[in-house]
Amino acid sequence: MHNKSIAVIGGGFCGMMTAVYLLQSPQPLDITIINDGYPFGRGVAYSAHTDKYLLNVRAINMSAFDDERFHFLDWLQQQPAYQKIPRNILVNVYAPRKLYGNYLQHIWQQALQNKNAATNINIIEKQAIDIKEQIDGVNIYFNDNKKMYANLVVLATGNTAPRHVFNQNKEFLNSEKYFANPWAKECVSNVRHLKNILIVGNGLTMIDTVQGLLENGFKGKLYTISPNGFKLIPHKYNLLVYEKIAEELPEEYNLREIFILVRNHIRSLTNVGIGAHLVIDALRPYTQQIWQGLSFDEKKYFVKRLSHAWTILRHRIPVHIYEMIQQQRMNGSMETIAGKITAITETADNITVKYSNHKSQKEEEIIVQRVINCTGPECDVRRSANELLRNLAASGLIIPDALHLGIEADAETGAVINRDGEKSERIFTTGGNLKGILWENTAVPDIRVHVKKLASHLSAKLQQQAIY
Ligand SMILES: Cc1cc2nc3c(=O)[nH]c(=O)nc-3n(C[C@H](O)[C@H](O)[C@H](O)COP(=O)(O)OP(=O)(O)OC[C@H]3O[C@@H](n4cnc5c(N)ncnc54)[C@H](O)[C@@H]3O)c2cc1C
Repeated sequence: MHNKSIAVIGGGFCGMMTAVYLLQSPQPLDITIINDGYPFGRGVAYSAHTDKYLLNVRAINMSAFDDERFHFLDWLQQQPAYQKIPRNILVNVYAPRKLYGNYLQHIWQQALQNKNAATNINIIEKQAIDIKEQIDGVNIYFNDNKKMYANLVVLATGNTAPRHVFNQNKEFLNSEKYFANPWAKECVSNVRHLKNILIVGNGLTMIDTVQGLLENGFKGKLYTISPNGFKLIPHKYNLLVYEKIAEELPEEYNLREIFILVRNHIRSLTNVGIGAHLVIDALRPYTQQIWQGLSFDEKKYFVKRLSHAWTILRHRIPVHIYEMIQQQRMNGSMETIAGKITAITETADNITVKYSNHKSQKEEEIIVQRVINCTGPECDVRRSANELLRNLAASGLIIPDALHLGIEADAETGAVINRDGEKSERIFTTGGNLKGILWENTAVPDIRVHVKKLASHLSAKLQQQAIY
């Protein structure tokens, strides 16, 4: 009798960890991981090309396993550069993302060693571009016109390149001076050291890019632009945990009530000189639950009016990196603009960028040698740079969630919902694709929980004879 088969599209943290759990299944399976673009088991985040790119989550919270809190910490403690660091300090370390990728490789090797001998694992390094449902499974199509069959498929497609940031001068999108994928090494290499650069975006990817450019000897001026300007804050009070707000959370969630509760707690902390982000950290274990309890209108309001503040308090940077950026800003090597690009013109040597400056309320311009798009992953599946997601959205096998933040799916199992509102028996998703459903399902502390749940659901499903 042949094994039941499952394909996982995407070999980043989510795809690999889903497979790690499936490899533990006592039932023999044929598992195929389809991965293209970034190295298997590392994905975008953990294939960083330099040690300068750090985790933005403390070591204590980066275990790949939800039920083994110290798993990463124990591994890290054994690495040469960390052996002598006391444990109480190690918990607060922001390790290089590349090193975290080595940790994931270690997990994979162990999973292979311990797998059921009758389970087959196959990694295909090709791009999946479409899926068609069959009576008892799915056909997955590749960009070389080949296809494969599986009983179930998981879309662990992860981070897609950012949306293009300007509607004017579209020809510039094809320019060699425009860097559309901020995670590619080319963004920060081969720069002319003294000529200015514009980074579009003022978030965490901007921080990486600045570090990458400086590491490569860049000495010109760096401009960064986004509607709200630079607002990132450092991680502080690492050892403090503020639990009070959790005790006061209502049974049923109402955005207005929660907003007032959060605001009051933030006020009482900031009044005594403690940062507001402790309140947001305290809400993290409840975020998915709160989000699911909100109405569509409340979610829409949150995304429009409050998500920027949430993002600032949530996505912080290590103190030493924050200080380095502030130093760059103070010495004039870096200028952060709150504004919006209005026109881009390219000449043989330069790019002229016009923008409306929200502070001065004036139209201004700068001359730069390259423009790097660091605005964050595109969420809307219909506009995605990922051909597979676009094709699935076009055929109606997946649909965007109501807020177009990802894929409409069942929160628990990740089963996608099709154009007719039916929950799929064969196609599942996880990771950032569930942003609209869970709001926070991007960082390791959240995705490790979901992939475990997903893998357990898939194992149970594959054991049911009924799927044939
Ligand atoms: C730059 C960056 C830094 C981050 N840092 C942290 C951090 O410090 N801590 C933290 O907790 N989280 C961090 N995150 C969040 C991060 O998204 C998750 O931790 C995790 O890496 C997500 O893994 P993933 O598998 O969902 O996606 P990805 O890592 O994006 O992996 C998806 C993989 O699937 C491949 N793929 C997609 N579509 C197809 C297809 N059609 N065919 C074949 N292959 C396909 C992609 O090319 C990629 O290799 C970071 C994210 C980014 C972008």
